[in-house]
Amino acid sequence: MSGPEQTTITEPETSTAESPSVALRNVTKRFDDFTAVDDLSLELGRGEFFTLLGPSGCGKTTTLRMIAGFERPTSGEIAIEGEDVAALPPHKRPTNTVFQSYALFPHLSVEKNVGFGLKRKGVGKDEIAERVAAELQRVGLAREANRRPSQLSGGMQQRVALARALVNLPKVLLLDEPLGALDLKLRKGLQVELKRIQREVGITFVYVTHDQEEALTMSDRIAVMNRGHVEQVSVPEEVYDRPTTTFVAGFIGVSNLMPATVAGAGRVRLDGGPEVGADTGDLDNGERCAAVVRPEKLTVSLDGVGAEVDGKPRVEGVVESSLYLGTATQIVVNLGGDVRMTVLVPNADEAERQRLPGGGAKVSLSWAPEHMHVVRESPNGSG
Ligand code: ATP
Repeated sequence: MSGPEQTTITEPETSTAESPSVALRNVTKRFDDFTAVDDLSLELGRGEFFTLLGPSGCGKTTTLRMIAGFERPTSGEIAIEGEDVAALPPHKRPTNTVFQSYALFPHLSVEKNVGFGLKRKGVGKDEIAERVAAELQRVGLAREANRRPSQLSGGMQQRVALARALVNLPKVLLLDEPLGALDLKLRKGLQVELKRIQREVGITFVYVTHDQEEALTMSDRIAVMNRGHVEQVSVPEEVYDRPTTTFVAGFIGVSNLMPATVAGAGRVRLDGGPEVGADTGDLDNGERCAAVVRPEKLTVSLDGVGAEVDGKPRVEGVVESSLYLGTATQIVVNLGGDVRMTVLVPNADEAERQRLPGGGAKVSLSWAPEHMHVVRESPNGSG
């Protein structure tokens, strides 16, 4: 994780093999009788880009605020590099937080904003100048040092906030939806920037977002949260390709879930559909589950009846909508009840596209068995 131009921020190599960067053990946070975070345990590696991902209200910010010290857990322990931080107020913790609102001092220059914390700690003038210059260089704002925040774009102001946090040499940087106020193009650019900076400084980033694409792009690992619980912690590829619960499968990517029941080891019966072979993992016989097939892996055809023609599982339904998206056509097929599957067909050939079934057509969907993945029903509801 350490970059070649490390000067001030990287931890000594010797400390990396020891206790985790951040450890939460059975952490619960209640607000009156409402449980915002429920018995949460996590261990973050040093230098890891770790993301808390989930819908609004799932407890991401509360978790981050407990690590920062702005909230106290109702029960459980939080340690940073092996040290219990329960008794420490926010400013005594080896953390810094970057918020969605940049919270810069409007009357101070960029340089003075970044150096503010160091000045308050009594760091010498020359050292402040040196460290501030290095951070402004790192975030690409060396030439804006004398400007006021109001003379900068939103993206630039967030870079100032980042420099202001990094200059304090935190062991852990906490980021709460830092790109949330920026437009899409700027956000994409800053995602790449942030990841580069994180690699360069080599410190642990704990990043809160509800944007799954952002999480998949930037993170080393993602914890997907639902109603105060962590449902899955894994690397981005795994969370996308091998979700473990209906909630994670639905939250990451398009929700293409077919309700089913385990019909023996390696078999599931789709509701109103065929019994098909599948990796049922540690699911029990008779257990309710769902079969996930990503939109780009489904084939839609007007004919086709019965189960497992050509070894491929099939289900039948009615086209609800067909939408031209430029590079692809998105077809939504209703399998009955509330079960809808989205199919993405690349628009490679215009004649073929013209032949795609339109609204009301009876169709069948098929897929290669290896593209179906079985997930258990979320223990925490649908979020
Ligand atoms: P968002 O992205 O909307 O901020 P979140 O996942 O970060 O969502 P939290 O801000 O952690 O969610 O909030 C989790 C739950 O706890 C929400 O239902 C919220 O209303 C509640 N909550 C948070 N802070 C307080 C508080 N100080 N008093 C009472 N309830 C709170």
